[in-house]
Amino acid sequence: MPRRRASQSPRVVYRTARAGLRVTRGQRRRLVGLLISAGDVWACVLELNAWRRARQDRPFASYSELCRELAASGPGTFGELDSHGARSVLRRYSDAWFASAKRRNEGDRTARFPRRRRALAPVRWYHGRFMLEGRRLRIPVAHGCPALWVRLDRDLPHPPEQVRSITLLYDAGRLWVDVTAEVPVACHPAGHEPDPGRVAGVDLGIIHPYAVAGPDGQALLVSGRAIRAEHRMHLADTKGRVRAVARRAPKPGQKGSRRWRHYRRRQRLVEARHRRRVRQAQHEAAKTVIAWAVARRIGSLAVGDPRGVLKVDAGRRHNQRIREWRIGHLITVLKDKAEAAGIGLQLVDERGTSSTCPACRSRIPKPAGRVLACPACQFTGHRDLTAAANIAARLGGGITPVIPAGVTHRRAGAHLPGVAPSRRDPRRRAHHRGARGSPGRHRPARASPTPG
Ligand SMILES: [Zn+2]
Repeated sequence: MPRRRASQSPRVVYRTARAGLRVTRGQRRRLVGLLISAGDVWACVLELNAWRRARQDRPFASYSELCRELAASGPGTFGELDSHGARSVLRRYSDAWFASAKRRNEGDRTARFPRRRRALAPVRWYHGRFMLEGRRLRIPVAHGCPALWVRLDRDLPHPPEQVRSITLLYDAGRLWVDVTAEVPVACHPAGHEPDPGRVAGVDLGIIHPYAVAGPDGQALLVSGRAIRAEHRMHLADTKGRVRAVARRAPKPGQKGSRRWRHYRRRQRLVEARHRRRVRQAQHEAAKTVIAWAVARRIGSLAVGDPRGVLKVDAGRRHNQRIREWRIGHLITVLKDKAEAAGIGLQLVDERGTSSTCPACRSRIPKPAGRVLACPACQFTGHRDLTAAANIAARLGGGITPVIPAGVTHRRAGAHLPGVAPSRRDPRRRAHHRGARGSPGRHRPARASPTPG
């Protein structure tokens, strides 16, 4: 919930960054204790409303009603969790309840009110409750409990005075904080601000997550090869893992063995790491696009929205590919970064843009490969860039360079393991002589021939 701001103040956006926590065993116990207490608050509200429903009373849903009930429970009911942290759980419940109510009012009968208990619930604290000094963070605890200082595992991208809230959460076996900051929209020096009249078209794809065509024949291609490799390695790894443990998988209703639980835990860690890697790579790709656009004073981005194709069933392999694409995330990150940079973004229908000749507007049936060749007018060009130029034209970009003046090539996910020789991927096997897969464990360095 953004705070009220004076109407004259400069425009801001809210951005959240996640950082891991470096904690001792004792700190970890206390932090998990806070999350369990928050889960208890959540469960209490569910219980309370279940009773009220059984009595045919109106359920408590508004934040203030719930806060009154919390105050009646008195201090110390929820362990070390302070009242502000507990209220953040009530806020979450209230928001979820009203969101469901709204959807039900609009006729969506599948929308359901919050009903699931959780062992751990995330807790949020707003500005003024916590203290942030560099990487040190003081998590608020109930009155009378010893102070709880923890360390973040990285520097935050936002200065501490911009931070408005922190959220403590647990994901895949690790403790995290989400730090939300109020970031002013970028101010560009006079003469360098984005010009809304300069339009660039963005074509979203799997081979190239972003293909951008701008004015003056300038173009940008972001390669998604590393992301696709990450997906492929992860899929192969998961398949191997599943095959290896299929024998000891518990039957439905059967309690799993300790080894099985360890396997499940490991699986969750690997899944989470894979998601983080892809997410990070997509963020970096979007950042590249925005930096490129700012440098060329592009003020409007027209993004072709291909989400119509997602509903079509295209077979097992292609469906998997489409799902891995994470198109919604690609659009969201680009939109967020464009907004923070002061660039407008509009979604346009992309139907036909990758099969229309930009020179003579004739339709090219079934273009194959990365190069688009028009049989009518001998136009040839990069297929994704041509699509991007066609998308730009739909928003009045109107630039169709037959030969792009300058194409910038960038890679998404340069940090992914296996991309640079310095970070080899342990999932990758050395498949022939000289190929470097996993470095293996404690393998001594090859003795270098000493010049005699
Ligand atoms: Zn043509």
